[in-house]
Amino acid sequence: KIVASLAEQSPGERRVALVPSDVAKLAKKVQVLIEAGAGASAGFSDTAYREAGAEVTDRDGALQAAGTVVVVRPPSLKAFRPETTLISLGAHDVKLQSELAAKRILHLGLERMPRTSKAQSMDVLSSQAAIAGYASVMEGARALDVLLPMMTTAAGGIKPAKMIALGAGVAGLQAIATARRLGAIAHGFDVRKAAGEQIESLGAKFVFPDFELPAPEASGGYAAAQSHEQQSRLRRALTPHLAEMNLVVASAQIPGRPAPVLIDDETLAAMKPGAVIVDLAAETGGNTSRTKPNELVEASGVRILGPTNLPSLFATDASRLFSGNMRSLLEHLVHEEDGVQISLGDSITAAMLSAAAPALASA
Ligand code: NAD
Repeated sequence: KIVASLAEQSPGERRVALVPSDVAKLAKKVQVLIEAGAGASAGFSDTAYREAGAEVTDRDGALQAAGTVVVVRPPSLKAFRPETTLISLGAHDVKLQSELAAKRILHLGLERMPRTSKAQSMDVLSSQAAIAGYASVMEGARALDVLLPMMTTAAGGIKPAKMIALGAGVAGLQAIATARRLGAIAHGFDVRKAAGEQIESLGAKFVFPDFELPAPEASGGYAAAQSHEQQSRLRRALTPHLAEMNLVVASAQIPGRPAPVLIDDETLAAMKPGAVIVDLAAETGGNTSRTKPNELVEASGVRILGPTNLPSLFATDASRLFSGNMRSLLEHLVHEEDGVQISLGDSITAAMLSAAAPALASA
């Protein structure tokens, strides 16, 4: 019946898993503990948590008392008690998963949230992708030597920059909307044809290369993977479009697989010098042949950024959305008398548990 929200330990992680306004709602149903200072880097003070009804405590105290622990990035498991339920990112981290199993800690991995309408309000990947999409244009704009908007001045006129989102899921669509607000001429591409309408509804041009897309209809809203040869044909068909662009936001991904390479050295050589690519797929290998996570790489005069934690740059609002998802999930898991219940009979819980975990959960 006790839920604890811990401070983040990963370098550069500024978000917090629960914000005071959500604590206030949860505190009506469960006791909430907050590790002292957990919200500080996202702009939420210990006092605000206390006023919302939480008890502020040290880390060990929280881990001793709580049955359920929530955090953004996977924490060090030292001091965790066996049978604790941990809710965090890290579902695809093999080392973490074996450590969790060895310590008999039940893990609900947020990356495994099913893509159903029921689970939509609990999906941190979507909420954080929206922030990453916005932030990608901010970062890209700063790295460009040209302006995004058109400008007419006494000294002469400046043409608007051209931007394209490769991959038009949550992040790509938000990047298009942001680039449009800043005055760029926006374009979008996705292998899912359904994304075309969404791109156009934002006032951007749907780039549809002169090339028959291989029936990429997906299961559960995801794109289907393409063969090697299909990917290579796609790259060549995209190259003339990319050669026109100043800013590229790349977010093409298929969960659990390496990111498809949409921009190879040949495309980079065809692009404008000074063009900027913000590659949101850097963590899974990147959408370009040259992306390096969290580094600025220059290739053929093109600048490639591979940021892996953009939501943390906007930690206050990213935390608000993350926490809204977390509250919704906790409300789903809490049963009146018994607090948080982990039951394999619940489809959301069952999907989020790691393969090794069900043995620990009640059926
Ligand atoms: P994502 O982050 O998994 O992938 C980003 C985009 O890359 C997707 O649009 C995908 O089609 C695209 N892509 C994959 N391979 C590509 C390639 N080779 N070339 C170009 N593009 C490629 O996607 P996402 O933002 O999570 O969303 C994808 C879809 O799922 C959207 O329609 C979204 O609305 C839906 N969705 C639904 C729920 C829900 O119902 N709970 C939750 C999240 C997303």
